[in-house]
Amino acid sequence: MPVSGLGDYDNANIFARILRGEVPCREVFRDRFALAFHDIQPRAPVHVLVIPTGRYVSMADFSARASQEEIAGFFKAVGSVAKALGLEEPGYRILANMGGHAHQEVPHFHVHIFGGRPLGAMLVE
Ligand code: 5GP
Repeated sequence: MPVSGLGDYDNANIFARILRGEVPCREVFRDRFALAFHDIQPRAPVHVLVIPTGRYVSMADFSARASQEEIAGFFKAVGSVAKALGLEEPGYRILANMGGHAHQEVPHFHVHIFGGRPLGAMLVE
């Protein structure tokens, strides 16, 4: 059972549909643990989403229920995707929204990778 305040995992959420191949995406990377693809509404010249292949709604859910192997595999994918995108030297930002205050739209845990230009302050005041 998911442990976050976001409720049970919804199999119909858009990222679940992308994982099943029902909805297309511009794929960047895929392995047993993670899928990375370009965000449909990019907020930076590079805006890629990395999602675990397992069914987790949030960071709390992922960290509580995923195996050590899944957690390591997922975060290794985040790092290697950012590097493969050429963002290591100029720099980049990773961000994960959780719940209402953070405006999480899709209830499948994901990390955004932003880069390709100076990204400004950490948060909008
Ligand atoms: P959140 O607000 O949940 O952290 O971010 C969800 C992200 O998913 C948004 O940046 C949004 O543009 C992206 N997104 C929503 N639907 C789709 C889709 O069908 N395809 C892709 N590639 N990205 C999507």
